[in-house]
Amino acid sequence: MPNYYSNWKTDTFNCLHCNWSGPGAECVQGEDFNDLVEMDCPKCRENIFNLIYPTEKEIEQNWEKVSEADKKLFLIRKQQNKDFSDGCLRSPKQLPDLMGDDLVLTWDIEDRNNGGNTLIKWGERVIWRETAWYECYERFIEVAHILKEKYQDQLQDLVPTRKSIYWLLGDRLTASSKVESCRSTLGLYDENEVQDQQFVKIENVDEELPISDDAERN
Ligand SMILES: [Zn+2]
Repeated sequence: MPNYYSNWKTDTFNCLHCNWSGPGAECVQGEDFNDLVEMDCPKCRENIFNLIYPTEKEIEQNWEKVSEADKKLFLIRKQQNKDFSDGCLRSPKQLPDLMGDDLVLTWDIEDRNNGGNTLIKWGERVIWRETAWYECYERFIEVAHILKEKYQDQLQDLVPTRKSIYWLLGDRLTASSKVESCRSTLGLYDENEVQDQQFVKIENVDEELPISDDAERN
């Protein structure tokens, strides 16, 4: 399989089905997957080769070959990565104490179409905000686990707002059931039942964590 930044456009490929032969640039784009795209024969449309999308490292190593549009996208994603790791929720210590039992928190998003920040709210009060990811259902489960660690038996549910659904679930068919199954454990009182669930435990908690603005005020 040719590397994304190799000379695949000028290299010659042969179709085993119809004997077509020609440069990679003449092949047509077939099915597009997360990490690769199929390149098909221009004559009979059978798959000839696959092009694996470049990793972050490969993009940086081949910077002069990257298109302006891809450069822009890459830099936005890189900044998003940094914003996220600089300010994401890692520990229950970052969250404010809340009063009362049966806390129902909401998972909301600033911008339905473009993302922005994920907002964790208690009523109208924002208790946490961090950079949002598209298809962030795995992050939902991580955050839910930290919320459970903080609020324990006080926590009843973490409800995604309708506005957040597009960014939370994306195109993943299984995402919805993963979110639902996580939510179904949040209200449980029995410690053991909660711990049996496959929560992702975040290790190596940094001592200098960002604290919720809300927590600082309290
Ligand atoms: Zn062919």
